[in-house]
Amino acid sequence: MPAYKVAIVGAGPAGYFTAQAFQNAQTEDLTFTIDMIERLPTPWGLVRSGVAPDHQKIKTVSKVFEKIAKTEGFRLFANVELGKDILLKDLRGQYDAVVLATGSSKGRKLGIPGEEMANCISSAEFVPWYNAHPSYADLAVDLSCETAVVIGAGNVAMDVARLLAIDPTELDPTDTAEHALVKFKESKIRKVIICGRRGAEHAAFTAPELRGLSKLENTDVYIDQEQIKQAYIRIDNLGEMEKELKDNLEAMRLIAKHQKKGMDRSLEIKFLAAPKEICGDGKVEEVIFTTNEVKNGNVIATGKIFTIKAGLVVTAVGYDSLGYPGLKIENGKIANIAGHVGDNLYTVGWAKRGSNGVIGTNKSDSAGVVDLIIKNLKEPKLNKGINSLLKSRHEVIDQLGWEKINASEVIAGELVGKPRVKEVDWKRLISLGTSL
Ligand code: NAP
Repeated sequence: MPAYKVAIVGAGPAGYFTAQAFQNAQTEDLTFTIDMIERLPTPWGLVRSGVAPDHQKIKTVSKVFEKIAKTEGFRLFANVELGKDILLKDLRGQYDAVVLATGSSKGRKLGIPGEEMANCISSAEFVPWYNAHPSYADLAVDLSCETAVVIGAGNVAMDVARLLAIDPTELDPTDTAEHALVKFKESKIRKVIICGRRGAEHAAFTAPELRGLSKLENTDVYIDQEQIKQAYIRIDNLGEMEKELKDNLEAMRLIAKHQKKGMDRSLEIKFLAAPKEICGDGKVEEVIFTTNEVKNGNVIATGKIFTIKAGLVVTAVGYDSLGYPGLKIENGKIANIAGHVGDNLYTVGWAKRGSNGVIGTNKSDSAGVVDLIIKNLKEPKLNKGINSLLKSRHEVIDQLGWEKINASEVIAGELVGKPRVKEVDWKRLISLGTSL
């Protein structure tokens, strides 16, 4: 029987784990050829442009991705953009199954006055900026103020706050974008305040990330002990506490009581602080917050307000998926039922379930969707696949091309004691990837 043709759009963790699930499902009678299509000239998605550079260990999952990519039947087509270089309807015509692993790259908005002001930046821009994503290298970032506010109580807020608050020399042995490292070294920011709108018990941080804060060498981390105590009281009143919450609160309790070292760099986490307005003369100068309280399990505004003088605001309040012609976006996700979008069209990862879960979450999630795809397969199509769709002179970065980029970055890194020096210029990435 001929192999089924699968197109996976998006070369991030969800895309690779989908490819892996197809590879694992192969039998003598059921085989797949997998074409992975990626807008950027480089694969690995959030592992390259999302994971914080001081968390290099998390990036070792890229070894798994490379193993998947080297498995027979897998091809990479990077520098190919859905909707521009290739149309969804054409892909669906050529392939037995098309899987959208396109993530959620649109930062959610707070919807408060002043959000459009200069130096109020979404994590959807700030994170790829410090991670050398070629589309964000020119982002206007001004770190000349003393205080920065990060809005949101999730792991992205924590990543952003940590990168702003640590001594930038700690980033020397990492793959932080060179342009960002220069800015971090010139930064005047010494105080970073994370503001969560609900209580400590509602925070979306995870315990390992919180525990990591206690290990910062050059930054004192503050949480008001009273806020944690009150969270414990509220939770006790509700009865049993889940393990994850217990671990989170314990990690926060330890941070709150941890002896401070008297560093001039600080990171503070404030709870029950809902952003109301961002003020300034065209550029962020202060943020006005409403103090919330938790009453009978509900978070409500108290009517009290307070202000933080700050020259930078980063909002890290979740992400929505980008739309494509012919696709419906519902609650920030591609409208789907268990990953099924429509005839031979599927979605996985953040595009499927929203911007939640860690990298590993995608493994079981993608495997579930691949099971469904296999159940729905009909006779294999005998079409030509992607080659019949792309313009003949389109500069595709294939796996070999990516390996050239990868090797060049890693070698550049070895010379300066870093895991890699990322190339940030789109044209140079293409020329590296297409060089002989
Ligand atoms: P998240 O975990 O969903 O956190 C978003 C935060 O934004 C929540 O605290 C939410 O508060 C807050 N928020 C939403 N709308 C708001 C508003 N209008 N005003 C104020 N606050 C608002 O999202 P994330 O931080 O973007 O992370 C996405 C996923 O990636 C998560 O699963 C995360 O764990 C994962 N991640 C993992 C790592 C890691 O493992 N190292 C690193 C980064 C990201 P409410 O709860 O009140 O809505």
